[in-house]
Amino acid sequence: MISTSSKSDRFRRQTAQLDLPPRVLLGPGPANVHPRVLTAMSTPPVGHLDPTFLAVMDEIQDLLRYAWQTENELTIAVSGTGSAAMEATLANVVEPEDVVLVGVKGYFGNRLVDMASRYGADVRTISKPWGQVFDLAEIKTALETHRPKILALVHAETSTGVKQPLEGLGELCQQYDCLLLVDTVTSLGGVPLSIDQSGIDLAYSCSQKGLGCPPGASPFTMSAKAIDKLNSRRTPVANWYLDMSLLSKYWGSERVYHHTAPINLYYGLREALRLVAEEGLEKRWQRHQTNAELLWQGLAELNLVCHVEQQYRLPTLTTVRIPDGVDGKAIAGKLLNEYNIEIAGGLGELGGKVWRIGLMGYNSRPENVILLLNALKQVLY
Ligand code: PLP
Repeated sequence: MISTSSKSDRFRRQTAQLDLPPRVLLGPGPANVHPRVLTAMSTPPVGHLDPTFLAVMDEIQDLLRYAWQTENELTIAVSGTGSAAMEATLANVVEPEDVVLVGVKGYFGNRLVDMASRYGADVRTISKPWGQVFDLAEIKTALETHRPKILALVHAETSTGVKQPLEGLGELCQQYDCLLLVDTVTSLGGVPLSIDQSGIDLAYSCSQKGLGCPPGASPFTMSAKAIDKLNSRRTPVANWYLDMSLLSKYWGSERVYHHTAPINLYYGLREALRLVAEEGLEKRWQRHQTNAELLWQGLAELNLVCHVEQQYRLPTLTTVRIPDGVDGKAIAGKLLNEYNIEIAGGLGELGGKVWRIGLMGYNSRPENVILLLNALKQVLY
């Protein structure tokens, strides 16, 4: 029997009911959530093997295939944030000693390097200054030199605001018999992207940016060619939770228990994806581009300079150079405390040099652009 006299009340805090400020999240993510997503998430949970929930999972898979423009059978949501889905791509196809070539042009390229090395890959890198993209010729030369099994690139580098062109990469990877792995965390739902047309074998994303859902259920997709590599492994996948040979039995027709799905997050993701389908991809991509251009024009009128050349700028995330003599952190603090607007500072190499402004998913609206520009004008001048 547990002795009641040994019970401690040390951590029995009297805390207030949750009451947080209504922030406008215009940083690198999370973005604000569409009200319909929040409503869907408050639906009472059913069991994770309930036939009605399995139908929700099927709907998520199809809606994800639409959002990503892929026919890939293995298209699912990983229970975890974008980094979990990122790790899932590498964990499933990397075997010790495999050469993995990573294009590093920002913070998240370095994360791919770190993760791939933890799975025993022989990691090779090519690099670009933060704010620039790789061209096809550079990638071809690197493939010729390193002959990797996997080429990994970040489509939308959230640390720099750069959009890596994907044209021609699929054909190149086919020519060099290597899998193409692409990070689409800041592009899915906001930037033109077609997994199949681009010849991408492995991709991952997140729920909290272009899809406008809270974080925690992250899109993942894998081509038949990538599945062949998984099936011909000499070693088991070193990560049990993210092993697609197990997870595909839960998401596929066998419906074998793997882990307890975060039911309500999946309700939210389903609603977020329904919103994408309702709007239509072309309209959604155009909306993001139009609102980003409105922002860029307004920033120029405030004499603020974007860090990235316009043709490679992401519509979802803009990096703006902090003018000389301005305390970037103080300005972001004022926006948060006085206007309830969140923007972020730079990451890594760009720390202290840029602000990062996100217009993602539900937040990509002209009224948010105008709100931010007006607030920026007040705090800057
Ligand atoms: N990749 C990119 C390009 C990102 O921007 C992020 C997060 O911002 C991640 C990966 C990791 O995602 P998460 O923070 O959801 O784990």
